[in-house]
Amino acid sequence: MVSMDTLVSLCKRRGFVFQSSEIYGGTGSCWDYGPLGVELKGNIKRVWWRDFVQRRPDMVGIDASILMHPTVWKASGHLENFTDPMVDCRECKLRFRADQVDALPWTHFCPATKGNKFTIPPGEPCGHCAARRTLCPDCGKGELTPPRQFNLMFKTFMGPVEEDAAVTYLRPETAQAMFVNFENVLQSMRLKLPFGIAQAGRSFRNEITPGNFIFRSREFEQMEIEYFVNPHDRVEDRPADEYWHDRWIADCLAWFRRYGLRDENLRLREHDRDELSHYSKRTVDIDYRFPIGWSELMGVANRTDFDLKQHAKWSGKSLSYFDEERKEHVVPYVVEPAAGVDRALLAFLADAYAEEEVRGEKRVVLRFHPELAPVKVAVLPLSRNADLSPKARDLAAALRKRWNTDFDDASAIGRRYRRQDEIGTPYCITVDFDTLEDQAVTVRDRDTMQQERVGIDALEGYLAERLGPC
Ligand code: ATP
Repeated sequence: MVSMDTLVSLCKRRGFVFQSSEIYGGTGSCWDYGPLGVELKGNIKRVWWRDFVQRRPDMVGIDASILMHPTVWKASGHLENFTDPMVDCRECKLRFRADQVDALPWTHFCPATKGNKFTIPPGEPCGHCAARRTLCPDCGKGELTPPRQFNLMFKTFMGPVEEDAAVTYLRPETAQAMFVNFENVLQSMRLKLPFGIAQAGRSFRNEITPGNFIFRSREFEQMEIEYFVNPHDRVEDRPADEYWHDRWIADCLAWFRRYGLRDENLRLREHDRDELSHYSKRTVDIDYRFPIGWSELMGVANRTDFDLKQHAKWSGKSLSYFDEERKEHVVPYVVEPAAGVDRALLAFLADAYAEEEVRGEKRVVLRFHPELAPVKVAVLPLSRNADLSPKARDLAAALRKRWNTDFDDASAIGRRYRRQDEIGTPYCITVDFDTLEDQAVTVRDRDTMQQERVGIDALEGYLAERLGPC
């Protein structure tokens, strides 16, 4: 598996992800997507939306504002429960999540070796004195405070006066907008259960211990679905909410596989009873084997009728559904597949990364699924030449109408191929001197490196067949 350092450096070198405000020393755990990163991220969101919203008759989408009425967060339980236990180092003042301190490598000044400094792997005792960590894992000197609860929501002020009444929060998840718009969407779209509402957008969490590149940051994007079902219905002889929960887990897993994540890097993880959120009947995570080890890629929770009932209680509005068959009002149950865009991007990047030896040289290649690849085609004239370059430029302009197309006529052809491999471009097209005679080009496949001669007339069809709908 590729290391995180290798990915971070590739991302910076090739314009996928930069540290935010880098020239000022960077902003803590915020990241900027560069020219290729924004394409990759856009493709992930677009394909997700197409597959889960546009291609399903039972799904619709919304795009809600990030700032919501502050009571939303009282009703949802976020003001009370969206907290992590944190501990502070009394010496260096660093702050850690109490439940994660033991997962960090720790600094130890070992009394058995005249106080020599060691960095010891997470959870292990010192090999010399057998001591276990009790002090700050970072500085190795300070005592840690007892755990205190810390709310992860970013507080801000609405309007020109900083008074308490105007306090609101940047949303820590996109989900709540689907609940507060339940009635609007239901009525305007004349929907029948079961149906789902999707949203992709930014969320903000003042994480105590952000890190591991874009895996955990304070500003990130989510793609969430709230799928409403009638709890009185049965599907295949099971309660509808339980049936749909399993269906969504299977559908999400299949989606990640379809776009390139390998089976051996994916697993399901069932939450234990004591780990379940306050609203959840059952939660299953889809974990991915990230460069940092197995970690959550997305979660699929059965949130029951908790959210709609809470918002009905706090808003005084009825948030229910009229069941025509049974002639009764019912509060739907909801299944929530919640994915992080940035974590998905990191997983697709890690899984696509490969290093190979080709004719004694190292080749780095990102084997992205063609629909995710930031650049689909690169047009490369064999050399910079008064006849070849214009011909190649015209070809690139024609292809650009349909696909994100690169043009590059600088440096040796081998180096240009390697650059395209490293950014995951599925096809490189070489325009050479024969092209001027036979109106054909050489198409090189990123994965097999096989080259094929294709007539310019047939090129668009050839690529369309291989690149998919894009
Ligand atoms: P974790 O346990 O890793 O903190 P979570 O269980 O709190 O995550 P959810 O509230 O279920 O996360 O959010 C759904 C998805 O949003 C997560 O599976 C993840 O992909 C993404 N996500 C959550 N927090 C962050 C973050 N700080 N940075 C990047 N992505 C995040």
